[in-house]
Amino acid sequence: AVPVPSDIEVSQSIVRDVGLLPIEIVASEAGILPPELLPWGIGKAKVMVAPTLRRLADVPDGNYVVCTGINPTPLGEGKSTTTIGIVQALGAILGKKAFACIRQPSQGPTFGIKGGAAGGGYAQVVPMEEFNLHLTGDIHAISAANNLLAAAIDSRMYHEDSQSDDALYRRLALAKSGMPFTSVMRRRLVKLGIDDTKSPEDLSTEERSKFARLDIDPSTITWNRVLDVCDRHLRKIEIGIGPAETIQPRGTNKGEVPRVQHSRTTGFDIAVASEIMAVLALARDLPDLREKLGNMVVAYSRSGMTVTADDLGCGGALTVLMKDALLPTLMQTVERTPVLVHAGPFANIAIGNSSIVADRLALKLAGEDGYVVTEAGFGADIGMEKFFNIKCRASGLKPKCAVIVATVRALKMHGGGPPVSAGKPLPREYTDENIPLVRAGCCNLVKHIENARKFGVEVVVAVNQFKSDTAAEMEAVREASLAAGAFDAVVANHWAEGGRGAEALGRAVIAACEASDVGNFRFLYDLALPIRAKVETISREIYGADGVDFSELAEQQMAQYESSGFGNLPICIAKTQYSFSCDPKAKGVPTGFRIFVREIRSCVGAGFLYPICGDIMTIPGLPTRPGFYDVDIDVETGQVIGLF
Ligand code: ADP
Repeated sequence: AVPVPSDIEVSQSIVRDVGLLPIEIVASEAGILPPELLPWGIGKAKVMVAPTLRRLADVPDGNYVVCTGINPTPLGEGKSTTTIGIVQALGAILGKKAFACIRQPSQGPTFGIKGGAAGGGYAQVVPMEEFNLHLTGDIHAISAANNLLAAAIDSRMYHEDSQSDDALYRRLALAKSGMPFTSVMRRRLVKLGIDDTKSPEDLSTEERSKFARLDIDPSTITWNRVLDVCDRHLRKIEIGIGPAETIQPRGTNKGEVPRVQHSRTTGFDIAVASEIMAVLALARDLPDLREKLGNMVVAYSRSGMTVTADDLGCGGALTVLMKDALLPTLMQTVERTPVLVHAGPFANIAIGNSSIVADRLALKLAGEDGYVVTEAGFGADIGMEKFFNIKCRASGLKPKCAVIVATVRALKMHGGGPPVSAGKPLPREYTDENIPLVRAGCCNLVKHIENARKFGVEVVVAVNQFKSDTAAEMEAVREASLAAGAFDAVVANHWAEGGRGAEALGRAVIAACEASDVGNFRFLYDLALPIRAKVETISREIYGADGVDFSELAEQQMAQYESSGFGNLPICIAKTQYSFSCDPKAKGVPTGFRIFVREIRSCVGAGFLYPICGDIMTIPGLPTRPGFYDVDIDVETGQVIGLF
């Protein structure tokens, strides 16, 4: 067989030798009308969701399939590759209407350690350079919105700290100008229980100060600035240290006491870790986006009240910045089938799934006989659990089937295979047949199958074939999967062969959807349970932990959230993706461990609480040899080189 070229070489050869299908044609074949499309060059277009969904309101949804994987190992599992492989098989080979819904990758990891996320080999989204960098600017919009809100917080504190209630109110509300309250201001009035039909002059002195003074307690601010670069030196920064950021403290006169520097310590996160990214993934439509963005809690006041983006007068502007980002981007696979790329929240502190908007749109476009394969990041213990319990709960959509991707090599590592190091040849355990090691590692896959079954969906195991895998090894995976209750388990070779290589997998997915009854779909926990019980349920049922211990801080936070009315939010546990437990080195199925919750943070706008178990990075660093070392451009042709 001819060796498979690198991912970028495959992508560029498709564009060069076969040619992209003009995106207008991809759209029309997908059932999108010309006025519903905003083309971005030849190979990308945004889809106007609202008119399309209005037009298709009466069409029954397609079959909803989630693609997830075993716990990742450094050997790679190929979830994105398999997501694309399945839709190529369904769409290009089996004649079904099939959509892939995948996340937009962050530029940070693309230039850091991970490389791209367009899939790979002959199961890819093309052009992969455009997919992996910038796309249609959604992540830039998120950074713009996030940083507007960050600036709003610090400048509001600056103005509050230097002005009297009266001056502050006059400037904020433009009282005496005859101008009415803006829509954003009226939201704050409603929250404060003040009659929002009043005009600014009519507020009492007490109401004026309540309205004007947020009185943010700086120690409670959780909102960081963001950028989409792995820039570790921005993790902790001091802001407001310039000569102009000084204030005459409120209530003092010039010269009476010295001016003070209006500075504080804060930090940056990577853009995809922003709550705004989580909101984008979970918003159902524009009204929901507006509500969620306005409701984001950025801090608490000194008296313990929540301070939201709407309190800062920012929710409307944030939504305006995000309105185009709410539209998914249509692209195509190497076999010219449609792909919707939308949102890319971090899988550790957020849900690690693509957007509800894209899935809803794809399900309507696919129609009753069609298929939508949406990808859940990380291992199934994180990505799939959050897909079911958070994303499906927010969307109301009911999946029929979970495809769990496993590879022989990764299972061998779960079975006790030796560690691997980058740049060194793989140990023989991974290159030579070793059935006992595969069998031992299947315990990891088996636990994920059992977990998926708890939600009432059918499970299809995809054995993503690598060159060195033997038939007997792959058969061992198949046997273990069927014994564990999988509907089917199929070897797939889409990476090397494209859709044809995943034909059997595609057929298995169709059969599983036909056998599935969406009426069986259920959540793992009830939202009305106390926060503690929800965390315990996930830990015991999904991770196999003996129990959960909460730090004193986490206990206080649970009490605070429950008294602020956030106790009924779903839980998004932040933990390592490499193990069911919190120890990344514990492969297979660890037992006899407990989960320790260090703290619990909230994403009230996006709509979840996230307990933090272990060390969680909200902005990665660059390794000594970052991915960007390989990237260059052929200045004669303009062709990108070395992006993987
Ligand atoms: P994940 O989504 O699990 O992170 P990806 O689908 O992004 O993994 O794949 C990671 C890398 O592994 C890609 O570069 C892809 O080309 C490669 N890969 C995936 N499947 C195979 C396979 N069967 N054989 C060889 N390489 C593969």
